[in-house]
Amino acid sequence: MSYFRPTIAAMKGYIPGEQPKPGTSIIKLNTNENPYPPSPQALEALRALDGEWLRRYPDPFAREFCEAVSDALGVPADWVIVGNGSDDMLNVVVRACGEGSDRTIVYPTPTYVLYGTLSAMQPAEVIEIPYPSDFALPIDALVAAKGAVTFIASPNSPSGHVVLLDELRKLAKQLTGVLVIDEAYVDFSEYSALSLVFEFQNVIVLRTLSKGYSLAGLRMGFGIANPTLLEGLFKVKDSYNIDAIATLVGTAAMRDQAYKNACAEKVKTSRSRLTLDLINLGFAIAESHGNFVLATSTAKRAEDLYLELKNRGILVRYFNQSGLDDKLRITVGTDEQNQRLVETLRDLF
Ligand SMILES: *Cc1c(COP(=O)(O)O)cnc(C)c1O
Repeated sequence: MSYFRPTIAAMKGYIPGEQPKPGTSIIKLNTNENPYPPSPQALEALRALDGEWLRRYPDPFAREFCEAVSDALGVPADWVIVGNGSDDMLNVVVRACGEGSDRTIVYPTPTYVLYGTLSAMQPAEVIEIPYPSDFALPIDALVAAKGAVTFIASPNSPSGHVVLLDELRKLAKQLTGVLVIDEAYVDFSEYSALSLVFEFQNVIVLRTLSKGYSLAGLRMGFGIANPTLLEGLFKVKDSYNIDAIATLVGTAAMRDQAYKNACAEKVKTSRSRLTLDLINLGFAIAESHGNFVLATSTAKRAEDLYLELKNRGILVRYFNQSGLDDKLRITVGTDEQNQRLVETLRDLF
């Protein structure tokens, strides 16, 4: 007999991007971290940390952080739920809403692989709807799938495309289940669907401090939705899912919007330059609204390129799955890092 529930024994675990030890001289362009350091004010908050903060349990709702979100984004503080990364929020939504074949989880593909992994654990049946080649949102098919939860990442990973507000509004209007709009990359985009949370009771928008705020190591993400929807999610989350350090440091980072925006502008400028350089090398690239580009390799096998780059100390992301196996997802680094990548690729050709 297996030690595990049948669904766990049968499922594949999520495989995160490789994380080399800090200090190794690898150029890391594989997991969409921000190349710039966190806000100086966030680091100052960390240095000034009082031991009393750690002696006591943290605030289960991270209310200081919710106030900072309220000030930064113009949403009521009691419309915010905070998680141990937005991955934690995704898990809470799946656990609260998905179950078996009656309460399915629906999403267009390709997208964030974790949606499927979390559904398999629950377990809840998954219905994947492929995007057409122009990445138009397949609204009718998504509605027909009748998900208890429908996930839309916008900007999406790994494609980098955005789903426009009007499309999401049409979808939200027709869905009877919860619509989760995962805006992990919104800080690098001109588009957001945050306003939909005020129009629809079934919409939750997820954000993270991992990408735009350079705090992937802190593990902090949050959701914004009306209190009726949040009430059910609060029942499911761990009481102390956001630790005291994250609450303190994350609050300082959230209050330093100017720094976050300045870093995002630099990344966006570098993204344009990198896109042009890669096109000149012969890659096909669609416009990206995230801090990464998805480059289709025409001259060489993408997997070979991934391995050759790795040998030369540059990590990018290769997905061994149909539709993506001729592509590399490359995080936008600093201009120096991007230049090294481009020169190395030129060498390899
Ligand atoms: C990075 C990412 C997340 C997870 O972010 P964390 O807050 O670090 O858990 C969620 N969704 C998408 C689409 C992402 O790319």
